[in-house]
Amino acid sequence: MKVQYLTNEVAVAFFQKLRSLFRGGAGTDDAHVLIFYVRCNRCGEVIRVRADRRWDLLQELGDGAAGYSLHKDVLGTQCNALMRMLVLFDGTYRITHQEIEGGRFVTPAEYEAFQRSRDQGASGRA
Ligand SMILES: [Zn+2]
Repeated sequence: MKVQYLTNEVAVAFFQKLRSLFRGGAGTDDAHVLIFYVRCNRCGEVIRVRADRRWDLLQELGDGAAGYSLHKDVLGTQCNALMRMLVLFDGTYRITHQEIEGGRFVTPAEYEAFQRSRDQGASGRA
């Protein structure tokens, strides 16, 4: 599968979700999955971003050095601020650079803390 430009990440993500539904779960795909956690600069929401090496990476052919890039538009559920994520990999899928416009990368622990605080807030008000 050759993807030159991913102009509509939302549609791509949607079809990936659809496909995983039909397959009945992720299962053995985990080896290809990349997970990032990003915090929205506007509202503070922490979002888990899932990417798949096989579909989401673009091959970068530089000066003899092969590598990959991942471009993802990230949209949370709390506000409509779009974050633009860029991650660069070397030929062995090691991350060599990562940046995000409109947000920042956080740790899995920060994501879990955010989830907990949101759950508590929701149940307390219900
Ligand atoms: Zn937000």
